[in-house]
Amino acid sequence: MTTRRKKIYEGKAKILYEGPEPGTLIQYFKDDATAFNAQKKAILEGKGVINNRISEYIMTRLNSIGVQNHFIRRLNLREQLIKEVEIVPLEVVVRNIAAGSIATRLGLTEGQPLPRSIIEFYYKDDKLGDPMVSEEHITAFNWAATQEIDDMMATALRVNDYLSGLFSAVGITLVDFKIEFGRIYEGDFSRIILADEISPDSCRLWDTVTNEKLDKDRFRRDLGNVIESYTEVARRLGIMKEMPTVIQGGVH
Ligand code: UDP
Repeated sequence: MTTRRKKIYEGKAKILYEGPEPGTLIQYFKDDATAFNAQKKAILEGKGVINNRISEYIMTRLNSIGVQNHFIRRLNLREQLIKEVEIVPLEVVVRNIAAGSIATRLGLTEGQPLPRSIIEFYYKDDKLGDPMVSEEHITAFNWAATQEIDDMMATALRVNDYLSGLFSAVGITLVDFKIEFGRIYEGDFSRIILADEISPDSCRLWDTVTNEKLDKDRFRRDLGNVIESYTEVARRLGIMKEMPTVIQGGVH
C-alpha cells in the first residue's frame, strides 16, 4: 500500500508521503527509536502504532479547544492524513519541571519545579545537534518573524496548560515537551499551525504518585519497558482498545 506512493521526506521516526489531494500529506509512524542525535538506535515494535494513536488523540483534543494543527484524520494503524505545511526549522520546548538538558546546563536537580513555565527554541539541524537559539538568532537568520515567534509562544503555553490538565487528570505529570510548527499559505498571507506529533517520544511524562518515567527517557536511559510505558499512557488516556495486539508484535 505504501510502496506506490511518492515519499516526500523520511525522518528518524516518521515518513511523509504525498497525500490524496493537493495540500495534504500522509504521515507514517515508524517503530524506529533514536536518541542522542541518532547515535543510539533501536526498533521498538509497535511504537509507531501507539504514537499514531496518542498523537491523533492529543491533536484532536487541541483542535477542539481552538489550537489549530495539521491533523486531519487517522487513516490506519500507522498513518494519518495531515495538512501540508512549510515547517518552521525550530523545536519549541516548554518546561515545567527541571529534567534533561536544562538540568545539565543550569546545574538543576532533576524533578525540581521551575519558577514558571519556560519556553526554549532549538534550531533544527541534525549536523549541529539542534543547538539552542534565542529570538535574536531566529529573526536575524529569518527562521521565523517576530509575530510568528509570539504566536508560537502563545500557542505553546496554551498547549502546556491544556495538556498539563489532561495528563494530571490521569495521574501523569507533564514535565516538559517539544512541539513544532508549520506555515500554511492563504493568498498573500501565512499563518502558523501546530505540526509534527505529540507523543511519549516528544514529552516527559512522569507518574504523579511514583515519579516513574512513562516516556522516551526509558529508551534514552536504558530503563526498559519502553512500549509498556507508552501503552500505559495510551491506556490512561482511554485510547487503549487496539493496543494488546501491538505488544504481541503482530502489527506492521
Ligand atoms: N525533545 C524532543 N526531540 C528532541 C529534543 C528534545 O522531542 O530532538 C523533547 C524531549 O523528549 C523532552 C523535551 O523535548 O520532552 C526537552 O528535551 P531536552 O532539551 O531536555 O533534551 P534531551 O537532553 O532529553 O535530549
